[in-house]
Amino acid sequence: MPRYHLMETNMIKQKYIELIRVKPDKKIHLKDYDTGWAQTDDFKEVGKDKVKERANEVLQQNLTDLTQVQQLLYADDRYSLLIVFQAMDAAGKDGTIKHVMSGVNPQGCQVFSFKKPSDEDLDHNFLWRYMKSLPERGRIGIFNRSYYEDVLVVKVHPELLKNLPDGKKGKSFWENRYEDINAFEHHLHRNGTVILKFFLNVSKKEQKERFMERLERPEKNWKFSTADLAERGHWNDYMDVYEDAINATSTDWAPWYIIPADNKWATRALVADIITSTLQDLDLKFPELTETQLKVLAEARKTLEAE
Ligand code: ATP
Ligand code: MG
Repeated sequence: MPRYHLMETNMIKQKYIELIRVKPDKKIHLKDYDTGWAQTDDFKEVGKDKVKERANEVLQQNLTDLTQVQQLLYADDRYSLLIVFQAMDAAGKDGTIKHVMSGVNPQGCQVFSFKKPSDEDLDHNFLWRYMKSLPERGRIGIFNRSYYEDVLVVKVHPELLKNLPDGKKGKSFWENRYEDINAFEHHLHRNGTVILKFFLNVSKKEQKERFMERLERPEKNWKFSTADLAERGHWNDYMDVYEDAINATSTDWAPWYIIPADNKWATRALVADIITSTLQDLDLKFPELTETQLKVLAEARKTLEAE
């Protein structure tokens, strides 16, 4: 299937996607990434309202295309797609998943939300609980938080590390975990899993506004958690661990995308575009029937016609 990355054809220009894809050989600094998508030429030229309008068109077109290409992924039955979402609280993981996946067939898609690990999880290697939830061939699996928490929240709060032999907690502990993650993802890739990783990059200012909204609007009160406020207190530490993790684990086989998350319409359009075009770029095809299978179909047709 051809791929058109132009806003005019309702896809996002490839050069913008390249801006937010982290190259394996480059060290990034999160502060260089705009949380509001204002660095694009379109934004500067035509203004925010017009860009928002176009982003919504891009989203709609992608949702339509995604429905089709998901069917093909399912029929083709060779690849699976693993999508990882990581972000600070209130960056919009849930809303993005809800909107972007609204057109996909639920039978071919599963969402797993990873919370604090159980005692049983902690009694195993750190990748264990995630391995059990990987998507089967033909399907899309979404990780709402993931094994990256084990090099993010756990790195900010090392007291969460339990029951490890002392010798295993040495200086290279985190480097070893990044290495494990890269090897794990490489293994998945070699076995037909396509991996996309999205860091929803919200600003500290926007997070405050979203928290305030949760406090002020009764129907949003339930979303507020004092634990989120405590983690906000570690904002700089989180930015450091995100930066380290992204730099250590953006690979050719499992790239990170730093998605601007201060404007929800931009987040959704970009995520939908990357997912759809990644699937469209695979050599997916409907299975071709053998001569024998075609003969069986012809016989079945005859039988039905003779009724
Ligand atoms: P929402 O708030 O929208 O429901 P959420 O993903 O923030 O979604 P919570 O139940 O609020 O869900 O938080 C889950 C918590 O579990 C987060 O603070 C996260 O850091 C923590 N967590 C996830 N994985 C791990 C892990 N491997 N080790 C320790 N903590 C983890
Ligand atoms: Mg939360």
